[in-house]
Amino acid sequence: MAKITGINHIALVVPEMEQALKFWRDILGLPLQGVNDVPEQASRIAFLPAGAGEVELLQPTTPDSGVAKFLQKRGPGIHHVCFETDDLDGMIDLLKGKGVRLIGEKPSTGAGGKRMIFVHPESAGGVLVELYESA
Ligand code: ZN
Repeated sequence: MAKITGINHIALVVPEMEQALKFWRDILGLPLQGVNDVPEQASRIAFLPAGAGEVELLQPTTPDSGVAKFLQKRGPGIHHVCFETDDLDGMIDLLKGKGVRLIGEKPSTGAGGKRMIFVHPESAGGVLVELYESA
């Protein structure tokens, strides 16, 4: 049976990347793996490894994307939590079977080639949950 095998990353929405890096990289000392513009997600995205997991910083680059609206509505802070599963299709079946609302019917393939899907916050206590299939 499909199971959760760990936390992959925690994503934070930030209004301004350089400002955010002053805490996460410069003060906390997390290594920066690079900042990438990801037009498909209308965001600048940075990953900072922190032991077994990573911190993802998301800065919206257009005023009307989902991430931009999230920032306007809820302010900076935690955007989503990403868990790894050993079997994404199995996990999707399990969640659908329990009436959990997913965002999109099928998994998509993310930037790093990982298969992923989001669970709607309505089904997860107000938290946007991302699921990655572990490599
Ligand atoms: Zn993520």
